[in-house]
Amino acid sequence: SPSIGISIFPEDGATAEHLIKNADIAMYQAKAGGRDQYRYFTSEMNTLAQRRLTLEHRLRQGLAEGEFLLHYQPEVDLATGRITAVEALVRWNYRGEGEISPAEFIPAAEETGLILPLGEWVLAEACRQIRRWRDAGHASLSVAVNLSGRQFRQKDLAQRIRGILAESGLGADALELEITESSVMENPDRAAVILRELRAAGIDVATDDFGTGYSSLAYLKRFPIGKLKIDRSFVRDITTDKDDAAIVGAIIAMTENLGLRVVAEGVETAEQLAFLRAHGCGYGQGYYFSRPLPAEALDRLLAVDQGRF
Ligand code: C2E
Ligand code: MG
Ligand code: MG
Repeated sequence: SPSIGISIFPEDGATAEHLIKNADIAMYQAKAGGRDQYRYFTSEMNTLAQRRLTLEHRLRQGLAEGEFLLHYQPEVDLATGRITAVEALVRWNYRGEGEISPAEFIPAAEETGLILPLGEWVLAEACRQIRRWRDAGHASLSVAVNLSGRQFRQKDLAQRIRGILAESGLGADALELEITESSVMENPDRAAVILRELRAAGIDVATDDFGTGYSSLAYLKRFPIGKLKIDRSFVRDITTDKDDAAIVGAIIAMTENLGLRVVAEGVETAEQLAFLRAHGCGYGQGYYFSRPLPAEALDRLLAVDQGRF
């Protein structure tokens, strides 16, 4: 699956150095287009490349300056009302000016490859935090970390994660990974190998945003995945739209039959919660329980709220 960038003398540059630089920009576009293709250099690419460079520079600086932080959102066992896990969600406090949403910078981090050091930091920080919570008495609390496609494709992923867990003195039961359907489907054969390695290391993997991809059912059977997170877009209207209600009801029934755990994302109201409980949904996450919060704020929720929801 090569990516090839092409620049032509003399239109695209008068020196070898310039030609190679522009070919590199074109190659980058080929990669961004999904690999296995070629692109000729165009001058518009230059503007795009400039913008990417600026963002890349800022991301790099942000990493060096420690501008990233994690918020945590509880996942609640709907049968007991207890918080069983938290999802780590990254935030960027750019130059201390306020938080930038991951929706804005994760794609750029992914494009530039900076997702690898950033993702590694997220994993390590989430593990350090769960260690603190476990030491404070929340002995079975675990943390879910989102993995980007690029991280998921790393050859030595399972090994790296084992190393990170060991550094915090944690077993594999402390960590769960969330991946999207599209990062699995980009290369299903390779994904199957990686997922088996993770499973062998005892690390549970959840499918995030379930229902928004296109491949859902086939790979649930084929891949060792322990958990499904039903995308917020289906949960939103379960009490008003009978199609969404039917879809969510069916997903819950299906996961039960397949022996998977199921989490409803984006639970915002008591009515949605009642629907999910009535249909036997195992877990819920959403503003109804709590927004994503800094660790200290979650401390309080963990201390007083066990069993409240
Ligand atoms: P996600 O993994 O599906 O995370 C859930 C998103 O839904 C979070 O947005 C969360 O704040 C939001 N949310 C939770 N409950 C509710 C609710 O009741 N209502 C509404 N309207 N929204 C709710 P956030 O934090 O902005 O993250 C967006 C996405 O960015 C995440 O979606 C995830 O795909 C990605 N992301 C976040 N952190 C990381 C990270 O460390 N690494 C990677 N690769 N991706 C990350
Ligand atoms: Mg997630
Ligand atoms: Mg999600």
